[in-house]
Amino acid sequence: IPLYHSPTPNDETKTLFFLILLEDVTTLRHLETVRRDFVANVSHELHTPLTSIRAIAETLRDGALQDPDVADRFIGIILGEVERLTRILSDLLVLSRAESQPVQRVSFDLAEMIRDVVERFQKQAERHGVSLQCLLETSLPISADRDQMEQVLVNLIDNAIKYNREGGQVEVCARKTEMEIAVEVRDTGIGILSQDLPRIWERFYRADKARSRRTGGTGLGLSIVKHIIEAHGGQVGVQSEYGRGSTFSFRLPLLTTAEKS
Ligand code: ADP
Repeated sequence: IPLYHSPTPNDETKTLFFLILLEDVTTLRHLETVRRDFVANVSHELHTPLTSIRAIAETLRDGALQDPDVADRFIGIILGEVERLTRILSDLLVLSRAESQPVQRVSFDLAEMIRDVVERFQKQAERHGVSLQCLLETSLPISADRDQMEQVLVNLIDNAIKYNREGGQVEVCARKTEMEIAVEVRDTGIGILSQDLPRIWERFYRADKARSRRTGGTGLGLSIVKHIIEAHGGQVGVQSEYGRGSTFSFRLPLLTTAEKS
């Protein structure tokens, strides 16, 4: 932007200055790349089951429908793919709600919520031959978004059972210090390779693609967890040893004095 300046009111000579504005667009560029990758990933994730549904429907139309056994199997595959699409859309909706809605804090006991969620998962754990238990302080009062906290626990416990094996264990531990509440979900499951660890919080990233697909994973669960915990001012963490198990953790700060009043 050129700027003119006369040293004295009657002076005809003008000095020309330039004001140069520099704006760092690195963050904007990064956000744009993230958005573009996300749209590309969503398209890919939806495209795969749709392609499979179309191929099977065409095979049925071209004659496979005449053989009841084949038809039955193919219809089963179509229903499976439709279920998969539904799960992806439902997780996308949860993620988009978490991103667009402000955290609605209410006071509740996190220990009670953990016990409830663990109770609800007992049947699923049994089906997988996994033992599930919690080690908690009697009460953990907290001010947080109830639905979102429940979502975090559900996603972490579901993974700890899903990526486990017959005879494995899952423990949910939580404790409180003066400053924060720390929760850990430990499993003796399949573990994660160290090269995958930094990426597992990314949307749609799966370390074990085959198992994730088989167990109905969408690759969005951990990104939802990370978003919710960070929106509460907390931090997520993971430690894992491939073949031995993983510990997923999060820490939530207790309310500051200003927030309490
Ligand atoms: P998914 O729907 O595939 O489970 P997540 O976002 O919840 O997606 O997890 C991302 C990936 O991280 C999973 O596909 C899996 O490979 C890995 N993962 C998550 N939790 C565990 C765990 N407890 N043990 C081993 N691997 C895990």
